[in-house]
Amino acid sequence: VPLVLTDFLDRAVELYGSKPAIIDDHQTLTYDQLNDRVNQLSRGLQDLGVEKGDKVAYLAPNTSEMLEGFYGVFQVGGVMTPLNTRLKPEDYKFILTHSESKVLFVDEELYSLVKSVLHEIPQLQEVIIHGNSFDGHLAYESWRSNYSSDDFDREPIEESDIASLLYTSGTTGNPKGVLLSHRSNYLHALSAMHHLRVSDQDTLLHVLPMFHVNGWGSPFYYTLNGATQVMLRKVDPELILQKVKDHQVSIMHMAPTVLNMLLEQYESNPISLPEKGRIVIAGSAPPPAFVRKVEEEMDWEFIQVYGMTEITPLITTSILRSMEQELPKEEQYLLKAKTGYEMVGSKVRVLDEFGKEVPRDGKSIGEIGTRSNNVMEGYYKNPEATNETIRDGWLYTGDMAIVDERGYIEIVDRKKDVIISGGENISSIEVEAALYDHPSILETAVIAVPHEKWGETPHAVVVEREGHSLTEEELTEYCRNKLAHFKVPKSFSFVEELPKTASGKIQKVQLRKEFWKHED
Ligand code: ATP
Ligand code: MG
Repeated sequence: VPLVLTDFLDRAVELYGSKPAIIDDHQTLTYDQLNDRVNQLSRGLQDLGVEKGDKVAYLAPNTSEMLEGFYGVFQVGGVMTPLNTRLKPEDYKFILTHSESKVLFVDEELYSLVKSVLHEIPQLQEVIIHGNSFDGHLAYESWRSNYSSDDFDREPIEESDIASLLYTSGTTGNPKGVLLSHRSNYLHALSAMHHLRVSDQDTLLHVLPMFHVNGWGSPFYYTLNGATQVMLRKVDPELILQKVKDHQVSIMHMAPTVLNMLLEQYESNPISLPEKGRIVIAGSAPPPAFVRKVEEEMDWEFIQVYGMTEITPLITTSILRSMEQELPKEEQYLLKAKTGYEMVGSKVRVLDEFGKEVPRDGKSIGEIGTRSNNVMEGYYKNPEATNETIRDGWLYTGDMAIVDERGYIEIVDRKKDVIISGGENISSIEVEAALYDHPSILETAVIAVPHEKWGETPHAVVVEREGHSLTEEELTEYCRNKLAHFKVPKSFSFVEELPKTASGKIQKVQLRKEFWKHED
């Protein structure tokens, strides 16, 4: 049996046909109903001339239409190219052109983002709008329902065929197009399903955007097991808690920034949560304080996962193993806040500059490298970047980390975010973690700014909690009690909000641009 993603839907239809697959605001679909719609969509795509290897782009929030789009595109051998919903028209022009997308599906609410550039993308043959039609484009529902689900002829797909072309977050520079095969996606799904213990009893709320790699893999491993997927169009903490209650959600994936908002909302307005759910944290490191809040206040399980677009994405998790269940709670929380140990299908090591593993002593720093079933085929049209990232069979992640004797990896910083001050390496994450313990701080990012004597020094950009007001002196004093002196930020800025990527990651590149000149 080839390892292809269409298998997952076939299996779910076979075993769970009448079970709810998707719950969206406007409709609930069983697996049978989903499958019919997917077949109609595939038939329609064939009618438009979409063939094996053709890219099909999606610009949509988390909706049932987008999820059925995944399988509809795969079934005809197409390559799913989801687009970030927070880009500028010029970025869409770049990605749609770079990816050579043949068809674009776009949600009616987002159409205005691309409208102005559509005529500048000659290879784009068709635009199909979810919702009402504009400018003579096809309207999805009426177009799809023209086709009979029985008419569709399956395209044979090989496991080495490309399933997706995803663009990276652009946290550290321009987004890069990542090619992932069916095989990588398939094996990644099995690994994630195993570690997150996904079963047909689960109801997932899609908090992470599906267009982004953090949310990307999840539709597959929640289909495969006949779980139910609840759509969330807008990341709003009140709405999240409402959906959790209404649909008895048992698991959610989110970025720490969203978890932070959610915890605030929950603290100020607690609701009775379904018992024993799980919160999966992806995308960046959560402060350990979050782990305690989730486990003690919400009584849900906290799970951390780590990965990147180039590896489909997940390769480590910090779900405690049986021998760690005996540890005192405090120690457990510290372990859970770490990046974790390798997931099945991935060999993950912390490597020195010669490609040798660093000692597992909890202090030697190296770069996380992986050999994994999940590794991309390469960056699209960018062999130089591919060769820089994949060397001697290892994919180098650009994340610097330490590893302890248990094998738990902990990211100390991104290679590009490490602050080098007077020859010392300062982890921006460590300084941020100290600041996050301060009760008046809602969010913070620590970046390097130039310094005459030390080369660089840490600068903290801080968002205060509502009704709190902080001074630079107070925070300096606070940090002195928690951090080695050279790690204490030499300056602070107070802002209303931090620039973020669509997946909720703080964009330090933006901050560096803004504050690089900010010197004492
Ligand atoms: P770009 O590559 O365009 O600069 P990006 O690296 O943010 O953007 P992604 O592939 O979405 O794009 O993110 C992967 C990165 O996110 C990892 O390399 C790592 O730095 C960070 N990351 C992911 N998960 C975690 C985690 N659990 N803890 C800490 N950092 C994480
Ligand atoms: Mg990256």
